[in-house]
Amino acid sequence: MHTVTLIKGDGIGPEITEATLSVIEAAGVKINWDEVSAGEGAIAEYGTPLPEEVLASLRKNRVGLKGPLTTPIGSGFRSINVALRMELDLYANLRPSKTIPGVVSPYRDIDLVVVRENTEDLYSGVEHMVGSDAAESIKIITRKASERIVRFAFEYAVKNNRSKVTAVHKANILKLSDGLFLDTARAVAEKYPQIEFEDRIVDNMAMQLVQKPQLYDVLVMPNLYGDILSDLCAGLVGGLGLVPGANIGDQAALFEPVHGSAPKYTGQNRVNPSAMIMAAVLMLDYLGEAEAARRIENALAALILEGKNVTADLGGTAGTAEMAEALVNLIKA
Ligand code: NAD
Repeated sequence: MHTVTLIKGDGIGPEITEATLSVIEAAGVKINWDEVSAGEGAIAEYGTPLPEEVLASLRKNRVGLKGPLTTPIGSGFRSINVALRMELDLYANLRPSKTIPGVVSPYRDIDLVVVRENTEDLYSGVEHMVGSDAAESIKIITRKASERIVRFAFEYAVKNNRSKVTAVHKANILKLSDGLFLDTARAVAEKYPQIEFEDRIVDNMAMQLVQKPQLYDVLVMPNLYGDILSDLCAGLVGGLGLVPGANIGDQAALFEPVHGSAPKYTGQNRVNPSAMIMAAVLMLDYLGEAEAARRIENALAALILEGKNVTADLGGTAGTAEMAEALVNLIKA
């Protein structure tokens, strides 16, 4: 029996979490869910969007499954997602985007893995006003964080039989910060002669991913570029409803969909639960439950290929709950 911290999240979070829990149960994995409240929902009860018990639970259980959490735009509290990653030093954000047969997309044979640095860059939150008409946000890049994220990308490539790692940067303009990231990446790459290594400037990378995505494999990059390009990669395979993410550190791991809380769809039983279900698949693999993970993954692929009981973003008419129910039936069959 595994004990896993559960954060249902804001907006569409609770709906996709319910769907995901029913699917995990159908696959026969016994999990003792340690449910904690974070985000908008926690403010009324605890007076803070990140109660201490959330961090305590994750530190104790070392594995968590999380729905999306809303972050106010422009003002208000800082991102709880970023705070969780930093507090627990979940330095690697792994976001795989793979073509799923049956999903309508102009792209075929996409198999990209974004490895996003998760603890520094412009997400360090070092921001201040300079007088009332200027603002400064400080981008922090360190050798230590760059080294461990690039090493993570190469280790992932070795373990998963991938052939190439591409480092993404803007070192032509940000000569010191991204320059340090690139120099560090080159040094780490020398230790993995069996894996091809190359680098791309981020703007060119965005165009290349739209025009020739099949040329790329594992992509490693600082935080902000990873945030943006992982959504781009999700777009290549059919949208945010499909792509999972894992935040991995040396002490803990937190699994979540790449997408956010999509507030406009809250409570409408409309969104696709697949990204969260696939996040659970990544979690089950991490927990050593590979057989259950493959059962869920294969059943979801079959459901999507059949195209009947799927949500609107996949061209179907099923609600979140109905898609989950069809998946549960398929897993049990
Ligand atoms: P979003 O990812 O919530 O939604 C953008 C659009 O993507 C939606 O309008 C919808 O069209 C589509 N989409 C998202 N999830 C879907 C699903 N499961 N099925 C089908 N379509 C789906 O991005 P946003 O609107 O920019 O952000 C909303 C909130 O989420 C913000 O507060 C943001 O800070 C937060 N956010 C949280 C996380 C996280 O928890 N890790 C990640 C990204 C954004």
